[in-house]
Amino acid sequence: MLVGLGPGSHAHLSARARAAIAEADTVIGYVTYIRLVADLLEGKEVIRKSMTEELDRAVEAFERARQGKRVALISSGDAGVYGMAGPTFEVLFQAGWTPESDIEVEIIPGASAINTCAALVGAPLTHDFCAISLSDLLTPWPVIARRLEAVAFSDFVVALYNPKSGRRTRQIVEARRLFLRHRSPDTPVAIVKSAYRPKQRIEFTTLEKMTECDIGMLSTVLIGNSSTFIRHGLMVTPRGYANKYDVDSGTAHEGEKPGRSLSSGLTGWLAGIHASGLGAAELARIHRLPEDYIAALLAEPLESPEPLSEAAGEEAGA
Ligand code: SAH
Repeated sequence: MLVGLGPGSHAHLSARARAAIAEADTVIGYVTYIRLVADLLEGKEVIRKSMTEELDRAVEAFERARQGKRVALISSGDAGVYGMAGPTFEVLFQAGWTPESDIEVEIIPGASAINTCAALVGAPLTHDFCAISLSDLLTPWPVIARRLEAVAFSDFVVALYNPKSGRRTRQIVEARRLFLRHRSPDTPVAIVKSAYRPKQRIEFTTLEKMTECDIGMLSTVLIGNSSTFIRHGLMVTPRGYANKYDVDSGTAHEGEKPGRSLSSGLTGWLAGIHASGLGAAELARIHRLPEDYIAALLAEPLESPEPLSEAAGEEAGA
C-alpha cells in the first residue's frame, strides 16, 4: 500500500490511509513521516529510512510483501506527487512484477502540499496552476529553468516544491529572476511552512520580496498569476467571471451569453482573427502565440458558428 498521509495532522489523514496503516504488518517511511503517525504504529514492524534511501525503501517494501506481509509505504501529502509511488513501480518492474502477479499494489491518495497550502491561504488555485520542484538532486537545472520560464510566460499559478534547503539556496533566487522577466514585481506570493503541523507559518509577500522571507525544506511557495490578489489576508485567484459577468448584478456583459463560450473563446476569437485583416506575424505578436500556428488557422476556412441547441449541455459557468 502506497499511502499518502496528507499534510501531517490526523484530522487530514484520510479514512482509507488510517485503515491501511491499521491493516499493515510493516510500515516503512522517512523518519519524519513515521513520527507523524507514531501513535498509530503500536505492535507493527517499523522501518525508518533517511531521505536519500528512496530506492531502499521500495526494495524493502517489495521484499516484505514477497514474504507475505502487508506493507504500508508512507509518504507525506500524496505518494504520487514527488513521492514514493514512482520509485516503487520502478523497483517492481525491474523485478519482473506485473499487476497480475500475486503481490497487490494499492495507491491511497492524500492531499498534496499544493492543496493543503492553498487551503490555508485562501483560493489561489481557482484558475490553471502547476507544480514545479526546485530540487536539482535528480533534475538538471536547465530543465527546471525551462519549466519556470514557460509557466512564468504562460501565466500559471505555480506551487514551488522543495524551494530551498541548507545546501540549495540559489535555486529560489534564480526562480525569482526568471519569473520577473514575465511577471510584475507586485505579483502576490504566499509562503507556507509546515502546513497543518505544530510549527505552521504563513507569510504573504510579493515576487519582488519573496527571497527575503524565511523559506526552507518544509515550505511551499505559491506564486499567483496576473489576476491573483490578496485581500483581508486571503490570496484569491478569480475564476474569470469578471470577463463575462458584471460581478455585482450577475448579468452577462454585452456580447456574452451565459452557458456559451466567451466572445474571445475559440470560435469567437477565430472569427475575429479572420475578420481582422491582419497578417499572421502581427496577430502572433498581439496574442503571444507562434506565427506558424496563426498562419495555419488563417489558412483554414472558418467553420459556421456552433448551433444554439448545443449550448444547453454545457457546464455552468464554464
Ligand atoms: N509528496 C509530498 C511532496 C514531497 S516533496 C506532497 O504531495 O505534498 C517535499 C516538499 O513538499 C517540501 O519541500 C515542501 O515544498 C512540500 N511540503 C510537504 N509537506 C508540506 C507541509 N506540511 N507544508 C508545506 N509544504 C510541504
